[in-house]
Amino acid sequence: MLLYGKPVAESIISRLGKVAGLNLAIVQVGNNPESSIYVNKKIKMAESIGASVRHILLPQGCAQDELLRVVTGLGSDSSVNGVIVQFPLPPQMDTDAITHAINPLKDVDGFHPDNVGRLFSGRPRFIPATPKGILHLLKHYQIPISGKNAVIIGRSNLVGKPLSALLLNENATVTICHSKTKNLSEHTLRADILVSATGSPNLVTADMVKDGAAVIDVGINRVDGKVMGDCDFEGISKKASISPVPGGVGPITVATLMENLVYAAKLRG
Ligand code: NDP
Repeated sequence: MLLYGKPVAESIISRLGKVAGLNLAIVQVGNNPESSIYVNKKIKMAESIGASVRHILLPQGCAQDELLRVVTGLGSDSSVNGVIVQFPLPPQMDTDAITHAINPLKDVDGFHPDNVGRLFSGRPRFIPATPKGILHLLKHYQIPISGKNAVIIGRSNLVGKPLSALLLNENATVTICHSKTKNLSEHTLRADILVSATGSPNLVTADMVKDGAAVIDVGINRVDGKVMGDCDFEGISKKASISPVPGGVGPITVATLMENLVYAAKLRG
């Protein structure tokens, strides 16, 4: 089975319906073209569900104090429901300090330590969009999670770690692998659910995958001008379910962010 993201994203968005009156603030520093693509996708999606977006574009050379002032101001502005600071930030910025400055009740990205702690203690508030999107994908295609072996390759704060907490909360037995893991295939071959989030093209080959497993390819790699994931899609799709790249996890992420925005509005009543 091919695990396409588009129907999952569409069902999230149709569940949300129209949400007039919500306000999302997106703070971007500099004009990194990749960041601008992501910001535009978020603006388009937010507007399509009826939310309004305040896009604050600060210059590349902006001082950290100025960014902190903006982020703190949005945190106390009662007309703003959700705040996103688009990463990566320029090198003069301390990303942790900025993340800490976001009001945790408006932290729709789920990166504030309060929200990270809540996820890991099994009482999630905002769940980062990519791992939450992966959970939606698994549920949409009715892939059983409870009691299954889930193996995640990648331990970033953005994907691997929060996903491990999510799947553990869903009663999977979770293994996290990374660049220092020995004999990667010993772990991957035990996986009923295998998630690769590394940014290493062709890391996961068909001989590393159990027959009938569900493989979620999160990686986005540009090779010879083409976008591909971490997995050998052709080989793996002959023996297991797999999400394509592009067209798998990617389309779900922005929809999940909108879900978090709607939740932010509910939180503050
Ligand atoms: P990071 O670079 O922060 O983390 C990569 C992780 O992969 C690290 O834990 C690293 O191990 C591990 N890793 C790298 N190479 C190997 C290897 N050869 N064997 C085993 N583990 C390895 O990346 P992100 O988590 O931010 O993103 C991962 C990928 O997912 C990227 O391609 C990114 O573009 C994509 N992505 C896609 C999204 C989507 O919506 N589809 C959203 C977010 C990310 P170690 O910790 O030891 O260095």
